[in-house]
Amino acid sequence: MKIIDSVKGAPDILPPVSAGFNAIEAAMLTTAQTFGYERIRTPVFEHTEVFARGVGASTDIVNKEMYTFEDKGGRSLTLRPEGTAGIVRAALSAGIPRGGALPWKVCWAGELFRYERPQSGRQRSFTQVDVEALGTSDPLIDAEMVILGWDALRAAARTAGKTFDADNLEVRLNTLGDRADRPAYHAALNAYLDPFEAAGQLSEDVVTRRHINPLRAFDSKAPGMAEIMANAPLLKDHISEEARDHHRMVVRLLEAEGIPIIHDDRLVRGLDYYTRTTFEYQATNLGAQSAVGGGGRFDGLAEDLGWNEPFQGIGLALGVDRTYLSVYGVPPGDPNARIAPAPRVEVYGIPMGQDALEPLFSLVTALRREGIRAEMGESTRKARALFKAADRSMARLALVMGDDEVAQGEVTIKDLSTGEQVSCPLDPAKVLSSIRQALNL
Ligand code: AMP
Repeated sequence: MKIIDSVKGAPDILPPVSAGFNAIEAAMLTTAQTFGYERIRTPVFEHTEVFARGVGASTDIVNKEMYTFEDKGGRSLTLRPEGTAGIVRAALSAGIPRGGALPWKVCWAGELFRYERPQSGRQRSFTQVDVEALGTSDPLIDAEMVILGWDALRAAARTAGKTFDADNLEVRLNTLGDRADRPAYHAALNAYLDPFEAAGQLSEDVVTRRHINPLRAFDSKAPGMAEIMANAPLLKDHISEEARDHHRMVVRLLEAEGIPIIHDDRLVRGLDYYTRTTFEYQATNLGAQSAVGGGGRFDGLAEDLGWNEPFQGIGLALGVDRTYLSVYGVPPGDPNARIAPAPRVEVYGIPMGQDALEPLFSLVTALRREGIRAEMGESTRKARALFKAADRSMARLALVMGDDEVAQGEVTIKDLSTGEQVSCPLDPAKVLSSIRQALNL
């Protein structure tokens, strides 16, 4: 019988890659927590309506990419293809808008699922760190969010001994104005696109989607569309004075902090809910899929989800897989990735013979309970194999116990890099203190 492969586009992330991957994710979450965001967990699936109404009918995500299924109770559920709609749904379910403690600042990390064509930097199952601030329209929070993403990506690169700075990480910024600004702009953009459609020059995807949201014409990667859009009217020329002031303040705050922003009038991002501030981080060493993160304001999303008062918000999503690809130069699921393994444990127990099994097992358990990362080899294996396993674990110390040690109530502590060894009475407190000393803990 053949073994069952993983699903296409859904890579396994295994050691030693997982250590680097987790470090990136942890650095991003820690940065968010430093900015006052609390880590939450929400379900991986939601009612399909959350995304259908929240993310928008003109988007690729809703049209083509959702993993939607019916559960045994006949509900239509969808594996989350993005984070924000589910978080806003969770906030509304919990009555956060009326709770008084606003802004509600949260972050989370987890897998997302999109039925896309797998390619470098694009998978069907991938991991994001998401950060959201709900219940605020203050431009200060917009600036905070852009800085948070920048700092988080820089911290993530440092976990791999790399640096992200203005030379290899771009921060693109735009404003999409308010929803009230859209009808007039949509009319102008559609009037610009009509003659191209009449001449049969618009791509199929734009023709079908522009009547729902003509902004999608800026996202289209179809041949010829970039040239057509080069002269299209821009949203920034059609936004209210209020949205303009908001944007000026965001820019001022970011410039004061030295964030190397690139103003990008055509940055619309692929989701319908964005308003005002939108931004994206692009790693210059990645090819077509260069965005390592992005985000923006979504001031009308809560209303799309049924809340009948304004409840603004802004969020950020950082792609852990693509950040890994950028800093390590290989995708995290690549089975041939040559990533240096990290030490799994600090101490490795080597039982030479059956009599050592029980006392050594007790000792290793005691060390683990004191926070020493420790592992023990199987007592049925030969000494040579056990020392090899200890080397592979990259432990600094081995605890060796054979018949002599058992008879004398001792254990040998061996430094695996220098080969030096000392005997120690078989007393957990004494062994612990010798180990701490040897490891400089
Ligand atoms: P988005 O929600 O599309 O704005 O995505 C935010 C970030 O998630 C992107 O900048 C990517 O780094 C990452 N991302 C989005 N889609 C994928 C995917 N299919 N595979 C891997 N990473 C992705």
